[in-house]
Amino acid sequence: MHDVPAVHVRRTPAGWHLPGIANLHSHAFQRAMAGLAEVQTDPADSFWTWRDTMYRMAGRFDPDTLRAVATQLYVEMLEAGYTTVCEFHYIHHAPDGTPYAPASAMSDALIEAAEATGIRLTLLPVLYMRGGFDGRALGAHQRRFGHDVEAYLRLFADLHARQHAGLRVGCALHSLRAVPEDAMQTVLAALPADARVHVHIAEQIAEVEDCLAVRGARPVTWLLDHAQVDARWTLVHATHLDASEIAGIARSGATVAICPTTEANLGDGLFPLRTYLDAGGAWGIGSDSHVSISPVEELRWLEYGQRLVTRRRNIAVTPGTPSVGRTLVEGVARSAAASTGFDMRDDHVVLDAEAALLAGATEHDVLDRWIFAGNRPVVREVHVAGQTRVHDGRHPLHDVAARDYAAAMHRLLAVS
Ligand SMILES: [Zn+2]
Repeated sequence: MHDVPAVHVRRTPAGWHLPGIANLHSHAFQRAMAGLAEVQTDPADSFWTWRDTMYRMAGRFDPDTLRAVATQLYVEMLEAGYTTVCEFHYIHHAPDGTPYAPASAMSDALIEAAEATGIRLTLLPVLYMRGGFDGRALGAHQRRFGHDVEAYLRLFADLHARQHAGLRVGCALHSLRAVPEDAMQTVLAALPADARVHVHIAEQIAEVEDCLAVRGARPVTWLLDHAQVDARWTLVHATHLDASEIAGIARSGATVAICPTTEANLGDGLFPLRTYLDAGGAWGIGSDSHVSISPVEELRWLEYGQRLVTRRRNIAVTPGTPSVGRTLVEGVARSAAASTGFDMRDDHVVLDAEAALLAGATEHDVLDRWIFAGNRPVVREVHVAGQTRVHDGRHPLHDVAARDYAAAMHRLLAVS
C-alpha cells in the first residue's frame, strides 16, 4: 500500500482539486430510515434494539423502492465528494425468502442506480446464513437475506460476469455470527483472484463475547487464524480490538472501514485510531447507515472522537505529516484501490476556491479547512473516471432523484 503516491492538492481556475473519496461501506436501503430510530423505546436502547427497527424497514423494500432510494443516495454521495461506493448488500429475496425472478433483481436495482448516477460501484452480495453464533436458523425478518452456499455462488458468478469499467463485484461475509466456518471456507476458495472480501467484525461487545464463548477466540483473532486475510480484505468497524489484533490487522495489509457517524449513532464504541496508525494499518471510511452522507463529517468525527476521550488535540497525524486533514485524506486515498478494486486516479473533487471558508487557503491548509471549518458544502465539481458528474454543486439527476425518492418514501412509510 506504500507505493501509492501521497495526495496531490492543486489549485486550478475551477478550484481546489482533491482526490475522489471512496465510501467503503454502505447499506443503501438504510438511507430511508435515517432519523427514524432516534426515539427512546427502552432506557437500554442499543444497536440491538435499533436492529429491530432496521429489520422492519428492510422488510418493506422491493426492487423499485430500492432503486429509487439508492439513486437518491448515490446523487447525495457524488455531491458530497464520494466517487466510489462499496455496497454491502443483503436484501436479496422477497420478504418471505422466495427468490425474485431473476434472483439478482435487488442487486440489479443497485447496479441501475449506480449506472444512472455515474458513481463507481463495488457490489458486495452478502452471504448470510445463520441467526447467531450458536447456528440458529434465520429469524422471520432475516429470511430475505439468506442463501445456501450453492445459491450464493450462483448469484456471485452471475454478477461477477457483468463487471465493467464502473462495476466491480466482490464478496461480503455478513459477520462471523451469520456465516458458519465451513461455508466461509467453501466460498473463499471459490472466489476469483480479483475479488475483494468485506466482513462486519467486532462492532459490538456482545459479538466479541459470543465469539469467545462459541469459537474460543475473539472475532478478529479467529478470522486472522482461519482465513488468508490480506490486502484484498476489508474489515468493517473492527471497533473492539486488543493489542495483538491491532498489530495483526496492520500486518495483514487489510483495510479497516471505519464508519464514525454510524458507530456514534449506534453507540458501538470508539476505534483505537492512534494505536492503529502507529502500527501502520490501512483504513478508510464508510457512511454505512447514512445518518450522514459527508466525508467531511466522517473524517471530522473520526478525529473528534479521539480528542474527546484523550482530552488532547491533533491526534490523527503521522511522522512527516503534522496536518490532521492531510493525514485523514491520505489515509482514505491510500486504501481506496485495495478495498474497492478500482484505480481511482482519474477521480477528483473540486472545492470552490471562492467559498468564504476557503478564503486565503494554501495547498498546506486547504484540507484542514475543508474538514474542520464549518458546514457549508464547498464541493463544486466531482469527476469520476475523468467525467464530470457534479457541476456547480449539483448532480444532473438532483431533482428527478429527489422526486422519485419522495414517492418511494411514501410507499415505504405507508406500510403498517
Ligand atoms: Zn454495515
